[in-house]
Amino acid sequence: MLHESKKILSGKEVAEEVLDSLERRITTLRGEGVQPGLAVIIVGSDPASQVYVGSKAKAAQRCGFLSRKYELPEEITQRQLVEVIATLNQDEAIHGILVQLPLPSHIDSDVVIQAIAPAKDVDGFHFTNIGKLSAGHTADALLPCTPLGCMRLIEEVHGADLSGLCAVVVGRSNIVGKPMASLLLAANATVTVAHSRTPDLAKICAQADILVAAVGKPQLIMADCVKQGATVIDVGINRIANPAAGVGATRLVGDVDFESVNAVAGALTPVPGGVGPMTIAMLMHNTVRAAEAHHARARYPRSSPSMILPHV
Ligand code: NAD
Repeated sequence: MLHESKKILSGKEVAEEVLDSLERRITTLRGEGVQPGLAVIIVGSDPASQVYVGSKAKAAQRCGFLSRKYELPEEITQRQLVEVIATLNQDEAIHGILVQLPLPSHIDSDVVIQAIAPAKDVDGFHFTNIGKLSAGHTADALLPCTPLGCMRLIEEVHGADLSGLCAVVVGRSNIVGKPMASLLLAANATVTVAHSRTPDLAKICAQADILVAAVGKPQLIMADCVKQGATVIDVGINRIANPAAGVGATRLVGDVDFESVNAVAGALTPVPGGVGPMTIAMLMHNTVRAAEAHHARARYPRSSPSMILPHV
């Protein structure tokens, strides 16, 4: 449980704990001749995507994974991209495949994501994994990294069972808001999802014991949206002007107005250093799970997947 005075929830610190806890499992796999393998595909040269992919590859190397980066040209066709994924689906050395989003506008990201074998879908975006999560079959699904990381931070404060707690998720995207709501529900929270068409957002948010903001709008969540003592998880990443640091300088902020909300919240994640590092740690976690499951299927072909996919 969170120490009374430890109000800022450091994703950096908790991510280190997650990575440390994976070490033993990675050593066990290596002892059985398995090196977890992660393939990261990036299309085009979007600078933010390059940074994210670089951080993921660095973490994979730190974990001792086989780490492969595929840098594909902006002009690649959807069919060619799907062919790269089909080849990786068959590659025994690769246990996890991640396609960095967004993709160029001529490519349908849904088609590309659905081309990834569900057992290698370490981002947890394939309909098979989303369906399992929605149905509460979390034990044998690969779960989306950012919501999983948020749950781990929430666990620092409230433990794993959120019975009796009211959670509000702001944002209903397929990659953050919806899976976040499903995970909170699976942990027994009473969950409300707010979005761009929700009237009186502040009133709804102010009921939350746990408030998760996943929108992409700086300062959307001000102190009037937050109940005294609430746990606030800021998923948003927004780059804004930072004139104090010079002409043209920028800085990263979340969706939560840190200063005002810090005065009200019981626990709060910073941006940067909050949810971001957790997303990367959970990608490593998912890759280890995928490698363990692959290895177990190879050794015990008849075992049920739920018997072989432990969560942290
Ligand atoms: P998205 O654009 O797909 O979804 C945004 C959601 O916010 C929508 O569901 C929309 O209904 C809702 N919304 C928009 N305006 C609103 C308003 N005024 N009031 C209430 N709801 C509103 O975005 P996304 O992919 O879910 O990402 C959300 C944010 O999280 C972005 O800033 C993104 O960069 C960030 N993100 C961070 C991480 C991480 O690792 N930290 C990972 C993924 C996304």
